Amino acid sequence: MATNAAGLFKEALNLFPGGVNSPVRAMKHLPTPLVVKRAEGAFLYTIEDAKLIDYCMGFGPLILGHRHPTVLESVKKALEDGWLYGALTSNEVELAKEINSNMRSVEMIRFVNTGTEAVMNAVRLARGFTGRKYIVKFEGNYHGAFDYVLVKAGSGAATWGVPTSAGILDDAVKYTLVVPYNDVEALERVFREHGSEIALLLVEPIAGNYGLIIPEPEFIKATRELTERYGALLLFDEVITGFRVGLSGAQGLFNIKPDLTTLGKIIGGGFPIGAFGGRRDVMSMVTPQGPVYNAGTFNAHPISIIAGLTTIRVIKGGGVYEVANEAAERVSKAILDSASRSGFNVVVKRVASMFQFYFKNGDVKTPADVRASDEKLYLAFHREALSRGVYFTPSQYEVNFTSAAHSRDVVDETIRVIEESFKALKAQIQ
Ligand code: PLP
Repeated sequence: MATNAAGLFKEALNLFPGGVNSPVRAMKHLPTPLVVKRAEGAFLYTIEDAKLIDYCMGFGPLILGHRHPTVLESVKKALEDGWLYGALTSNEVELAKEINSNMRSVEMIRFVNTGTEAVMNAVRLARGFTGRKYIVKFEGNYHGAFDYVLVKAGSGAATWGVPTSAGILDDAVKYTLVVPYNDVEALERVFREHGSEIALLLVEPIAGNYGLIIPEPEFIKATRELTERYGALLLFDEVITGFRVGLSGAQGLFNIKPDLTTLGKIIGGGFPIGAFGGRRDVMSMVTPQGPVYNAGTFNAHPISIIAGLTTIRVIKGGGVYEVANEAAERVSKAILDSASRSGFNVVVKRVASMFQFYFKNGDVKTPADVRASDEKLYLAFHREALSRGVYFTPSQYEVNFTSAAHSRDVVDETIRVIEESFKALKAQIQ
């Protein structure tokens, strides 16, 4: 077995499509993708023992940092008892109560294994509950890797579904309507034209899968008003934002009560999880209480449940959001300051402990603005920072995350690397 990144990647290329098990890990702008051996706090250690400050944090779940001692302890203890029962346990009741006490809209919940599964089941549930066919999603919002939602927008206010992936039947997406994000008029038009046939409107209330796009207040309000007016259900997909932007998620931040919510990432503390929940009358339709089928060998997996429960309890103990948010704020400011000192136009977007930056003039408010940013410069900057020990998220279409482990010292070092990396970038293009 190879002990360096190049050797291991060569073997991996022979075994996995593209050499990886999820596309964004491929990092095509680097000679080899990142190959990680272990992690601790805010740091990743590569196979070659390079120590990197991590701003990816497993793509979001690790709000406490890597290998948090309290989570580790609780998982070890749970493992001693066994790790799969296929039966009800007290911890899943506790986790559901924890979620419900922070997100009042989640009156009942079903734990599944991934965010993808959560949304997939929520779509089935919404159709089962309303008896309607259509779903509406926004351009650039990601709701997991399944057929009904892997649809991109074309031009125009609303486009009929065009699959983003090979292998998806046109028939599978013919009831999926796609609307530009942050475009109230387009959303109103779709509801005017199809309102009585729409089962569900899906929205990432803070969009974190096409860079970071912040909703305009009137836009996010319109999602609630229109669904209510036309009798459709509203799903806030809080797989990223749940327990990230606050204990009550984006719905708490915006004071909006969706009918359904999907969760994942943080509620599993870094272990596989997903969940869909919401209004009691809607959730009562799920099997075995109702006719909308959901089942899973690994649903509410005891290890994911205890890791998530412990994570939420540590967050509630205080200090987590303060440290993580301040770190994100300081790094965001440093990126703006250093970029301007080196003569680059950069836009930074941040909510709580999520941020992303774009090489662009003007603001970033829509997926089109993200596409108009200079991706080559982002990747060149990413390489420069990585070579100096800071691992930002490897694409301008993802977001960066901080954690409770991103202490002032870690951020000070990051700020130094940011300044140097912009200088190096400037030297490169002169
Ligand atoms: N929904 C959102 C908003 C996500 O960000 C993701 C994953 O990043 C998913 C759904 C799918 O979750 P998973 O990767 O756990 O299947």
